[in-house]
Amino acid sequence: MKRSFFFGVVVTALSVTTAAPPPAEDDGKLRIICFGAHPDDCEIQAGGVAAMWAAKGHHVKLVSVTNGDIGHWRETGGPLAKRRKAEAEQADKILGVTCEVLDIHDGELLPTIENRRLITRLIREWKADIVMSPRPNDYHPDHRYTGVLVQDAAYMVTVPFFCPDVPYLKRNPAFFYFPDSFQKPNAFQPDVAVSIDSVVQKKLDALDALESQFYEGGANGSAELIPSEPAKQKERHQQVRGFFEKRYQDQAQRFRSKLVEFYGQEKADAVRHAEAFEICEYGRHPDSAELKKLFPFFGE
Ligand SMILES: [Zn+2]
Repeated sequence: MKRSFFFGVVVTALSVTTAAPPPAEDDGKLRIICFGAHPDDCEIQAGGVAAMWAAKGHHVKLVSVTNGDIGHWRETGGPLAKRRKAEAEQADKILGVTCEVLDIHDGELLPTIENRRLITRLIREWKADIVMSPRPNDYHPDHRYTGVLVQDAAYMVTVPFFCPDVPYLKRNPAFFYFPDSFQKPNAFQPDVAVSIDSVVQKKLDALDALESQFYEGGANGSAELIPSEPAKQKERHQQVRGFFEKRYQDQAQRFRSKLVEFYGQEKADAVRHAEAFEICEYGRHPDSAELKKLFPFFGE
């Protein structure tokens, strides 16, 4: 693994926020913050619901906990981190949400006390009602530790004298996990499933904007993926869109019984693309009535 160009410690001041700062409290809208390990994870896992919340005026922020600076087969270091930040900003602009990319090296995330404080502060500053993250059992160490860090913050966000520089949350947010296919020690169990049919093209546009990762193949890609003729390039973009379209179709199949619970049989049978989430044991435990308020999409 190549070393990246940066050798400093975490420099959060370099993180970038593309949209407006959080508006005043109590505007009656939900406040959602999602954590992914890399500048594409939140978009892949929750880009659909993120766009749907945003369209209703709710406040959504997608945070990449690392800068993605080893996530390519040809490029690395500072230039790649800058490129990926720009891609994430573009994708999140398409989704209509706020983007933040933290300046921590890709492949080197650890569940340190500094990072626990960092995640705790971000959740508090966003005054989150909903927090999302990967589960802590995942193939990628950065995904795992993002899950651990968010879990470790789940209670601490409510503790007044932990990070007293940022006001603590009086109401514990509800924490949700993104889906995955890992079985050991336990499999993902959906608690809520949402049709993303109304925004699936927007989501595919956002993922298409993350060119270094999908069009070019990211860390395990190669020059062979990138054709030189414009017609073939168009084909390659279509291939990427098709790949993700199938992924969300497969999720609709996999989580069909959960869709039925929320939409009823007839509507659920018609859902083509879906996202699903599992409630974390830590944080607030929303019941099904509250889930319908947190995901206000089921009456449509
Ligand atoms: Zn990732």
